[in-house]
Amino acid sequence: MILIVDDKPENIYSLRRLLESKNFNVDTALSGEDTLKKVLKNDYALIILDVQMPGMDGFEVAETLSGFNKTKNIPIIFLSAVNTDKKFITKGYASGAIDYVTKPVDPDILILKVKTFYRLYEQTLALNETQTALREEIEIRKKVQAELKERVYQLHSTLESLPQLAFTSSPKGNIEFVNKQWYKFSFDNENFPEIHPEDKNIQSEWALCMLADSPLEMELRIKELNSETYRFHLLRITPIKEKGVVVKWVGTFTDIEDQKQAIKKKDEFLSIASHELKTPLTSIKAYIQLLERNIQSDKNPSTTIYLNRAQSQLNKLNTLVADLLDISKIESGKLKLNKKLIDFEALLSSVTDIIDQTHDNVEIIREGDTIDTEIIADEIRIEQVLINYLTNALKYSPDSKKVIIRTEKTSNNFLKVTVQDFGIGIPVEKQKNIFGKFFRVEESSLRFQGLGIGLYICSDIIKQHNGKYGVTSSEGKGSSFYFTIPFKQS
Ligand code: ADP
Repeated sequence: MILIVDDKPENIYSLRRLLESKNFNVDTALSGEDTLKKVLKNDYALIILDVQMPGMDGFEVAETLSGFNKTKNIPIIFLSAVNTDKKFITKGYASGAIDYVTKPVDPDILILKVKTFYRLYEQTLALNETQTALREEIEIRKKVQAELKERVYQLHSTLESLPQLAFTSSPKGNIEFVNKQWYKFSFDNENFPEIHPEDKNIQSEWALCMLADSPLEMELRIKELNSETYRFHLLRITPIKEKGVVVKWVGTFTDIEDQKQAIKKKDEFLSIASHELKTPLTSIKAYIQLLERNIQSDKNPSTTIYLNRAQSQLNKLNTLVADLLDISKIESGKLKLNKKLIDFEALLSSVTDIIDQTHDNVEIIREGDTIDTEIIADEIRIEQVLINYLTNALKYSPDSKKVIIRTEKTSNNFLKVTVQDFGIGIPVEKQKNIFGKFFRVEESSLRFQGLGIGLYICSDIIKQHNGKYGVTSSEGKGSSFYFTIPFKQS
């Protein structure tokens, strides 16, 4: 909008008509005081200001306007009939005006100037807006940068307080920060510690993870600088993402040397203990058999009873030692299978006979498909799995002697064997661990004897047959343990 200021209404009238004929919005004021009130209330793109006015003259108005932030940039065209003298023109400019037109006004010239100023005003406005936006943007960036700096500082302080070696890197894997523990294993902050020649290379393993933005976890030996010895560490490198994009990686090396040594010692102990136990056990067994033959003539019935009990306990001990031996074989990768073509139905009925002979009053029900398709497997080991599933089913069912064996041919050409019992069941949260080494369900561990290794051995045997295993169970109602093994490919 353009403001025309003149104390004579007839001058205002003609100027107003001229400007409105060119589609400008026009407002008017009849005095300097009136002008000041209006400019503070409204926004004007240009003021056409008569110099000669009673009270405040045009120059005074212009000077006052140049003192307010809101009005100091509004262009002013002075109109005057008298002040054509150069010194008045200069006075006009010095007080903030931009142009000066003498009366009588040439309408074409005035319109030209108005249009120019109007455009100028619009451009200034746009420029101001851009400037404000830019200033805001700079402020936001400054704030974000300060926050980022604070976060990085916090992260570094946290990493500094860890007992582990810790580092951060750029998204491409260039190390940016290392904590002080780092220097126990590396001379500088750019290179990883020296890795044992037999262990996997960090960079190549990490490069694979970078392709998928996934975390890296690996065990490796790194050399301690002081002692010049390698120590086992667990390396974890985790991507830090912002809006789905990796902005940083944070890594730690945790010393697991002591755990590794303890596990090694335990495995060695297991291996030695089971071997040492086996030799005297075998001889005792042989002697008892001899004794059994020698005392058949003995008429005292308790001799036979005691002998049977000794033999039954010996069998238990034998199974225990055999299981311990199996564990140490699994640990050292020496549990080898002897696979050949087997008759599964015959195997199953022999297993059922063994269970019948060793347990009183059991009811074993067979359901499902008859297995006449050929299977390549280690017969002794599959028998071991079946006996394990069945003895567990009976052991953990103190109030039921019923067990169902179900056999199925699956659509992907596997044999699936399920052993279902109606015993104590297994709590849901424990089911996923049930095939783990030395795992026993705490709630029932005191009621039932065992070491928690039978299912672990079964799982290794089934894995070596490329099969699957698992359990479904409902506490107080019973469990169904299953395993699968592939049929022979035709
Ligand atoms: P063990 O029976 O010698 O403890 P296993 O490895 O055979 O060892 O079994 C591990 C654990 O799984 C057992 O301690 C028991 O808590 C649980 N378990 C195994 N079979 C059953 C079952 N049929 N019903 C309920 N719990 C079972």
